[in-house]
Amino acid sequence: MGIPDEEIAQVRAATDLVALISEHSALKKVGRRWSGLCPFHTEKTPSFSVNAEEGFYYCFGCHASGDAITFVRAMEHLDFVDAVRLLADRAGITLHEDQESGRDHQRRSELLEAMERAVQWYHERLLRAADAGPARDYLRSRGYDGDIVRQFRLGWAPDDWDALAQALKLPEKVLSDSGLGFVNRRGRPQDFFRARILFPICDPSGRPVALGGRILPPRAGQPPPERPEPKYKNSQESPIYSKRRTLYALNWAKQGIIAQGEVVVCEGYTDVIGCFQAGVPWAVATCGTALAEEHFTLLRNFASRIVLAYDADAAGQSATSRVYEWERKHEVDVAVAELPGGSDPGDLARTDPAGLARAVKEARPFLQFRVDRMLGAGDLTTAEGRARAAEAALTAVAEHPDDLVRDQYVMQLADRCRLDTAKLREHLEHLRAHPPPARPGRRQSRGRADEPPPPEHSEDDGGGLPEAPPGASGRSPGVPRESAGAARDAGRSGPGLEALKLAVHRPEETADRVHTVLFTDPVQRAAFVALLEHDSVHEAVEAASPEVATLLRRVIVEEPVAGDPELGDPVDSVVTVLLRGATRRALADLEKEARAGGDSWQATAAETAQVRRWLDELDDPAAGRVAAGRLVVWLGEREAEG
Ligand SMILES: [Zn+2]
Repeated sequence: MGIPDEEIAQVRAATDLVALISEHSALKKVGRRWSGLCPFHTEKTPSFSVNAEEGFYYCFGCHASGDAITFVRAMEHLDFVDAVRLLADRAGITLHEDQESGRDHQRRSELLEAMERAVQWYHERLLRAADAGPARDYLRSRGYDGDIVRQFRLGWAPDDWDALAQALKLPEKVLSDSGLGFVNRRGRPQDFFRARILFPICDPSGRPVALGGRILPPRAGQPPPERPEPKYKNSQESPIYSKRRTLYALNWAKQGIIAQGEVVVCEGYTDVIGCFQAGVPWAVATCGTALAEEHFTLLRNFASRIVLAYDADAAGQSATSRVYEWERKHEVDVAVAELPGGSDPGDLARTDPAGLARAVKEARPFLQFRVDRMLGAGDLTTAEGRARAAEAALTAVAEHPDDLVRDQYVMQLADRCRLDTAKLREHLEHLRAHPPPARPGRRQSRGRADEPPPPEHSEDDGGGLPEAPPGASGRSPGVPRESAGAARDAGRSGPGLEALKLAVHRPEETADRVHTVLFTDPVQRAAFVALLEHDSVHEAVEAASPEVATLLRRVIVEEPVAGDPELGDPVDSVVTVLLRGATRRALADLEKEARAGGDSWQATAAETAQVRRWLDELDDPAAGRVAAGRLVVWLGEREAEG
């Protein structure tokens, strides 16, 4: 809807698919295609392949396949039209959409532009303005040098009502919709941030979508403020900013996360910057909300391990049972970094940067961390203390969904608390059958467990209650992934697949030699017909059924097997193999017909003999091609008759 087809084609053609995908996964050139770890499933050896010229990708592991638009839809969770818009923006193409959706997009662009201008303005203020002196002093005292300030584009909102509104002269609607300001009771535009250090929050591609602001601590000798302000104040949600889908610093950390296969999740902006300073540049923070499933969905595209670097109490309580659910669903491991003595990563980065890096490196699995804490809180020197500590830890173990994992912790508890394993197992089964009501930490700060869930977009969602995922699989909502069955069938192999690869990659060599009649597999045949009937592979994919389209996308990223020149032309050898197969099948059918009909037995015998001669001649260097041509004609005639 909305966008004309030729503009969609133009956007596709203008998009560098390799550059686009490289923002999510490192690609290496292998022959004519590019290969890397699949951004759609967790893997250790690359099975993801990109054909840059045709603009298609295919994963041999999870069978994800598609083009730039499909990719953006999956990664950025966009619908088709928004994905095209995003790519058009990147490519500098102006779309001529129908009016309503166009206005929507126009709105977003205005807000993004306003946010970018504001971030730049605030940043310049921090760097240069006289009134930002105390802010600069404070940042220096935190160990932030000019590089850090510039990298994270930190800003300073002056202690003034409307400095930004005055400077940028934004339309009132843009000012308020972007969250940068509002119209006050006297009808005048007013800034949202005042006397705060600002941390720009960006989308994964680095465009600012919101700001977080921190007040300066009161200076020595200064009287406390009359009306104390909250330490942190964030932009409200807006058409360009959703807390649950945004992670602070993901744009800067992306490379590091991909390189490490791991992401450190902190609670605050300064924690993230501390991690970068301590040599852990793969850290992000949730923006004033608990880690939610949307964050998992976002992160699993980059990393298979999530390390929580919260202060210890918060980490122990975060989301608990849902963490296990998300671990399984999104194939990620969640670990917890133990930060010494109630410090946060921001503090630790200043006092003991090596300690911070070590804590991240030595992060323990989520359940191990909880068990250790419970045992650590108990008195393991007495029998009573050990029993109580084991009991407490066992409630945590009981929440884990995997019985093999549970059992290992049971053995560990038995060992550490000097208890009988069988007894503990029995106790665990009891706990699982009768879970204690309202376990602490299960739904912290949410009151009773039987309380109805809060409205979806509540402010600071302390519990991180997951929303029902839009798709059953929880990944890539709304993205047209082919049905699993079709995807698996598209893995069909053999000479037919090879012939399709040749038809796609060396069309000039196959033009008069590969024919429809050679394909006995219906999907391969449909794929070949689609290639014949359309001018470009793109059109063929678009017109094809999902099953055929998947096969085509795979073929596009797969190079034909490099033939041994001594064995002759690769097209010839593939054609010969296919021809033999198709001919044998046709001969078998012919004999069946003859037996059933009876009267044409003589004619059939002659025809069969002739066909067998041609088959024999196929290996003859001189007569091979002629025989192949005759067989193709014969197969074609049979099909036309049948
Ligand atoms: Zn994959």
